[in-house]
Amino acid sequence: MEIPKIKLLLNPETEEAKSAIGYEWNDVAGTRHFLGGQPDGIERENYPTCKSCNQRMTFYAQIDSIGDEYDLADCMVIHNFVCFDCFQVESLLTQTSTE
Ligand SMILES: [Zn+2]
Repeated sequence: MEIPKIKLLLNPETEEAKSAIGYEWNDVAGTRHFLGGQPDGIERENYPTCKSCNQRMTFYAQIDSIGDEYDLADCMVIHNFVCFDCFQVESLLTQTSTE
């Protein structure tokens, strides 16, 4: 199953939140948030398998590093996968391109 790609846009509601977002030296990192579609940097054959039923999981969301202050190991992203049969979830921390 592939969910249609839905880009997520940030909507910080406080000055503190606004200042937490983004990188001083990179305009791409911190903006790569989306639901569905295909994850940056992981081929379908490398998607995790469900611990309950052993089927390949569905890619659900990519959540980027937030910014310089809350960076994930040099601009890594979190990839979230779900099994739509068992509702097991799995997350991977992945290095992707920031070009
Ligand atoms: Zn399953």
